[in-house]
Amino acid sequence: MAIVIDGKRMADGLLERVAADIAGRGQRGLPRPALAVILVGGDPASQIYVGRKLRACARVGITSHEFRLDPDVTEGEVVALIDRLNADPEVDGILVQLPLPAHVDANAILDRIVPDKDVDGFHPVNVGRLSTGKGHGLVPCTPLGCMLLLDSVVPEFRGLDAVVIGKSNIVGKPVALMLLERECTVTVTHIATQGLPEIVRKADIVVVAAGHPGLVRGDWAKPGAVVIDVGINRIALADGSTRIVGDVCSAEMDHAGALTPVPGGVGPMTVACLMANTLAAALGHDAERELQGAVRPALSARGH
Ligand code: NAD
Repeated sequence: MAIVIDGKRMADGLLERVAADIAGRGQRGLPRPALAVILVGGDPASQIYVGRKLRACARVGITSHEFRLDPDVTEGEVVALIDRLNADPEVDGILVQLPLPAHVDANAILDRIVPDKDVDGFHPVNVGRLSTGKGHGLVPCTPLGCMLLLDSVVPEFRGLDAVVIGKSNIVGKPVALMLLERECTVTVTHIATQGLPEIVRKADIVVVAAGHPGLVRGDWAKPGAVVIDVGINRIALADGSTRIVGDVCSAEMDHAGALTPVPGGVGPMTVACLMANTLAAALGHDAERELQGAVRPALSARGH
């Protein structure tokens, strides 16, 4: 039977660690980290995601500032808000919830956030730092969460074959760069890739972020492979209800070495990593390197 990697439990461990660091800072008279969250319009899914992030802030002791903007706000008004938050010394992190309405250029908005407050790790400077392996950057939360989940079951990455399905800027590309940095041999695949099952069959590590329910079948994965399922797909059931499923046919994965569940795998780690990134931004640290040292002992103490 494949190990089911409990992302919820790992996320709880990470949140406790972040909360303890913040409480320790408070005892030394240092301010709490502060995160500004900007939500444009009333997209229901975005509201749920923002709600989760704000609740996590409250849980770990991060001060949150919420900016809910009308759907018809102009790009100039969003830019002006970001400029104000960039200049505010009491704000450590700035997050703009995506997607933005079509009349607002998301790239222009994300590029406007100063890199050291870019807790989503989407600014070109942080992307460049990640791709050059120079560190001291903020890295995207979901890929960071994937690496921590992998860290809990993969003792040595060097020389392993890793296949990433999906080449998005927020998941596929950054997670591929992180795996490359650990000296895996990385293959990045996408919708136009030919012979995907054969490519996946060679992999020791598979990270799937395609947004295609049940894409990866059991006979695609080699015995013992570690499979990280990033997909979040809502599917309709025959009785009219809906269910959230991943991109992997989890029922066919008994022969895998380890697998993340959906829900309860990558999702909770994404939010926990946002909290870790906000703390790292406040400290001026490199979240990924810090977490490799700080989180693994905390997690192994919990039986991971
Ligand atoms: P995206 O749409 O930006 O990119 C999807 C990628 O998958 C593309 O590169 C596309 O070429 C590839 N792809 C699509 N169908 C494919 C197929 N049949 N075969 C091979 N490649 C295929 O999506 P994204 O933003 O990267 O998100 C991917 C999935 O991960 C979605 O389900 C999303 O909801 C989920 N997600 C989860 C979290 C989390 O916290 N758990 C965070 C971000 C995204």
